[in-house]
Amino acid sequence: MKYNVAILGATGTVGQRFIEILKDHPWFKIEVLAASPRSAGKKYKEACKWLLKSEMPEEIGEMTVVNTDVQEVSKAGNVDLVFSALPGDIAGPVEEEFAKQYPLVSKAKAHRYDEDVPLLIAEVNPDHLGLIPVQKERRGYDGFITTDPNCSTIQLVLSLKPLEKFGIKKVLVSTMQALSGAGYPGVPSMDIIDNVVPFISGEEEKLERETLKIMGRFDGDKITYADFKVSASCNRVNVSDGHLECVFVELEQEPSIEEVKEAFRNFRGEPQRLNLPSAPKNPIIVREERDRPQPRYDRDAEGGMSVVVGRVRKDPIMTVKYLCLGHNTIRGAAGAGVLSAELLAAKKYI
Ligand code: NAP
Repeated sequence: MKYNVAILGATGTVGQRFIEILKDHPWFKIEVLAASPRSAGKKYKEACKWLLKSEMPEEIGEMTVVNTDVQEVSKAGNVDLVFSALPGDIAGPVEEEFAKQYPLVSKAKAHRYDEDVPLLIAEVNPDHLGLIPVQKERRGYDGFITTDPNCSTIQLVLSLKPLEKFGIKKVLVSTMQALSGAGYPGVPSMDIIDNVVPFISGEEEKLERETLKIMGRFDGDKITYADFKVSASCNRVNVSDGHLECVFVELEQEPSIEEVKEAFRNFRGEPQRLNLPSAPKNPIIVREERDRPQPRYDRDAEGGMSVVVGRVRKDPIMTVKYLCLGHNTIRGAAGAGVLSAELLAAKKYI
């Protein structure tokens, strides 16, 4: 038996990735597609400008999109789980309505900092799911909300987690972020052709704050944020998919570069131990070439679910520096959402 899922924001950049990943999923079946009133009532193939290289699945194209409204979604199908890929500025109250009834995995920013809401990376902080009973009790929900971090944060924190054992003191990160991270139609072509835009609204704050919540300690009913410092500087570049980040970390210890690489290579989490369907075998892949990772060549590693690290070297000011690359709409968005849902299912939260 499969879990029936609804996708909110199904016509968007992330919604399309959800469809691509879920269409043949062993545990989940797409039951309801919801979007804005602009799309509601139309067949999916009429409402959606499909942006992926893979074909839109025929049966999905024939489904009728409904409004993002609990009653409409409930009427359209027997739903066990909701994925939300709604714009952050409208997601807040809508997701709360859904969570009264359904388990909901959100890609949006609205509830990421709520005290009783997990901000989950399945390999990094699965214990934070312990907030779910706290949230249900406190809010009186039958369902619940869990959130996934921002795309640029997911790949950064996946790469930081193996370094935790050396004692993280400070992190500097400078990003080169792909266009698909801005949704569709995203950044106007006249702004980005032959250019780099050194500003992404809210992005630096997300990296600096989310990292500390995810790497924080779960104390039974709350998260105590990690106490190191993160400083981020974010740029939009003319690349379709795949964020590249230059990361500089000051550590308490002085591990050798080989020890740092070993820590990356050997890193495994709960999804790998549980053999979850979307779990990459290697959450972190280390490249040895002097000019990798690169978005075009490395973003699809293990189906876009692995983070690729390269140019690991000593830093004269901090302790170590490296580049890290992640597929922003797969590992940074829909793929991470599906992995979170698989973990929820494996741990019997749904
Ligand atoms: P997008 O391409 O702009 O898609 C937005 C989706 O939300 C569309 O399906 C749209 O439906 C729907 N929508 C817009 N206004 C709505 C309304 N008033 N009521 C109901 N539905 C509405 O955005 P995206 O890039 O997929 O991002 C979705 C969410 O994921 C955002 O919160 C974003 O921050 C987050 N996220 C994105 C990425 C990424 O790499 N793109 C990564 C991580 C997280 P219509 O087609 O009907 O307008």
